[in-house]
Amino acid sequence: IKVAGGQGFRFYAPAMNARALERLDLERDLREAIRQGGLSLHYQPQIDLRNGQIIGAEALARWQHPRRGWVSPGDFIPVAEESGLIGPLGKWVLHEACRQNQAWQTAGLPPVTVAVNLSALQFAAYDVVDLTSAILRETGLAPEYLELELTESAAMADTLAFIEATQRLKELSISLSLDDFGTGFSSLGYLRQFRIDRLKIDQTFVNDIVQDPGSAAIVTAIINLAHSLNLAAIAEGVETEAQLQFLRAHDCDEMQGYYFSRPLPASEFEALLRSERLL
Ligand code: C2E
Ligand code: CA
Ligand code: CA
Ligand code: CA
Repeated sequence: IKVAGGQGFRFYAPAMNARALERLDLERDLREAIRQGGLSLHYQPQIDLRNGQIIGAEALARWQHPRRGWVSPGDFIPVAEESGLIGPLGKWVLHEACRQNQAWQTAGLPPVTVAVNLSALQFAAYDVVDLTSAILRETGLAPEYLELELTESAAMADTLAFIEATQRLKELSISLSLDDFGTGFSSLGYLRQFRIDRLKIDQTFVNDIVQDPGSAAIVTAIINLAHSLNLAAIAEGVETEAQLQFLRAHDCDEMQGYYFSRPLPASEFEALLRSERLL
């Protein structure tokens, strides 16, 4: 079709155009949301399997869109990455998570680590080391209470830069975990050069551990690999008692999942932390 533009005519392929316009819409709204405080964080507890205590929380971005309702991070993180908004978005997430965790500690709640996701693109395009140290300074959070969740794709994109960045982050005393572990086919040979603290077993494996011997074998192998490298193993997406029992029996260190709790708004996570202390 032909559409009259400002000056003259422009040609559009109708299907592509609808998607592209939709995309532009989402991008404009996301930019607005980052600027106007339209994003929030939910916190999912991370549990120590030995004593059942909450030792941390993963911060997960949420966007309540004025017309579309809740947009999931699986949909808006890719938009942010493709539009360059991942810079300001990631900065906001990191700042908000550190600010919130410091506020909890100031209020006398039991100290927990807050884990923040960094996308591979964010890791490649921005100086996360400088950003992180500036935010820790601004918020006053001790670096021991911040963990960054990195992905194998970040490690593979530029392995030497990744090794160097993880070293610098470790020098700041921040914890590091490798997220979605087992899905990215990164070279195991590099693993001992990454200055990381834990492997986060991807939820697709955890999902099937009870029914599928293959997944069970992978999960067991990841736990053993982690331990032989002196790393902790954390399982995500734990939904059932049977999965929990399997993980316990195989010496997994920590877990996270709907079985214990969904990601919660800050106020609800705070209430959970308070009730923990009264136990
Ligand atoms: P992820 O880092 O692998 O986060 C785990 C996802 O699994 C979260 O989805 C969480 O809500 C969900 N989940 C937790 N427990 C269970 C369970 O027991 N069963 C099932 N089926 N799912 C569970 P969510 O919050 O939709 O986030 C999706 C992805 O978006 C995250 O995957 C992460 O890659 C990305 N993301 C979220 N927040 C941020 C952020 O602030 N920055 C960046 N760069 N990425 C983010
Ligand atoms: Ca994660
Ligand atoms: Ca994950
Ligand atoms: Ca994932």
